[in-house]
Amino acid sequence: MPEPNTRLIERPWENVERMVEVDHALERILAVVAPLAVQRLPLLQAAGRVIAEAVRAQDHVPPFRNSAMDGFAVRCQDVAKATWDDPTLLPVAAEVAAGDAAGTALRPGTAIRIMTGAALPDGADAVVRFEETDEARRMVGTLAAEVRVYRPTRPGDNVREAGEDIVSGAEVASAGQVLTPARLGLLASVGVAEAPVHRRPVVSILSTGNEVVPPGDHLPSGKIRDSNAYVLAAMAQAWGADVRLHGIARDTVEHLTSHLRDARESDLIVTSGGVSLGDFDFVKDVLCAEGEINIWQVRMKPGKPLAFGLIGGTPLLGLPGNPVAAGVSFVLFGRPAILRMSGHRDVAPPVVEAMTTDAIDNRGQRRHYMRVILEPHPDGVLRARVAGEQGAGVLSSLAAANALLVVPETLEHVRAGTRLQAIRLDW
Ligand code: AMP
Ligand code: MG
Repeated sequence: MPEPNTRLIERPWENVERMVEVDHALERILAVVAPLAVQRLPLLQAAGRVIAEAVRAQDHVPPFRNSAMDGFAVRCQDVAKATWDDPTLLPVAAEVAAGDAAGTALRPGTAIRIMTGAALPDGADAVVRFEETDEARRMVGTLAAEVRVYRPTRPGDNVREAGEDIVSGAEVASAGQVLTPARLGLLASVGVAEAPVHRRPVVSILSTGNEVVPPGDHLPSGKIRDSNAYVLAAMAQAWGADVRLHGIARDTVEHLTSHLRDARESDLIVTSGGVSLGDFDFVKDVLCAEGEINIWQVRMKPGKPLAFGLIGGTPLLGLPGNPVAAGVSFVLFGRPAILRMSGHRDVAPPVVEAMTTDAIDNRGQRRHYMRVILEPHPDGVLRARVAGEQGAGVLSSLAAANALLVVPETLEHVRAGTRLQAIRLDW
């Protein structure tokens, strides 16, 4: 038996905002989280992070005028009359390869053999591709003294201008943008080797419950294995957080208090269990005693008994114990909080429209987040098929689902064929 004498007499949490709407709860949570400090990281470590300050190009990209093709640098006027039947013959004065410093200028009436990426010689205004010369007929390894050009060319043909991609001084990344692979490449191309990005949030995960044991342990009578810590930690990681597992707190005020004090150094504390009305649900009490509680209970299903508050200035998300309730509430409230701390501007979940294939009952005036499997349909409208048993503890149907169908609190009965919004599960 748990020690019953540790129960607090007062119930200070009874005065907090209760049974709030999902959107209101999210607003309250986002009101206390802000983007974390800026750090400068080597490019590859910064991949996927959010840019914290504008980054400007110090040079043009490309830095100099260069050839877009393997061919011959020429003056257009020298090949104006070239045709397949009557090619123009030009002496080949030099050769330039990519990486060579800009050198010999092009003398009128001559050509310079040039490779892709090599600086265009002064005096040249176009490049004629090998394919439009007699190059192809030449023996490999022999350098001809002259070239036959079969076509006229226009100024700028096969030439990449300096600054064609990025002009020196231009902003290549701005605050709030995600460092995608392509944007990372932009930073590299303008010589920024360290990217200014927001720090990753450190998220502490704590399971609670006298019945809960770690997954590797023997399972004594009356116990269950801790699955919540793994669901929540893997989600937080997928959303870009650094996770610390704080183990399992027993259902006593003392044990819970000491575990929560350990977790205070992080950016977000996430607990699961111990937040309902049971005799041993102490998360709310400890939150009141050690900090403040702002909300308790959200009008949603699964996941009604959710608490939010602050401990030593660190936000605490007290999730329900039932595995699906914990997971779904973490998607709705934990994901946006983690994204906001990481610097993301858009923290809304990825939502699509889908048509139900089953009739759904939704009594109780709570917003129902149903585990569904979204499938494409030839008519272009996604179909949402119920993923299985919808009990708050049935984790297998959450594992089978790829989305949460949002059934509004105002809809008691949903007919098959109704179009609703669905949140794609992107962990
Ligand atoms: P509680 O809110 O603490 O009453 O927990 C609600 C239900 O979730 C109970 O059946 C708990 O055994 C279960 N539960 C609580 N914590 C976990 C956990 N970490 N992993 C799996 N199930 C849990
Ligand atoms: Mg419990």
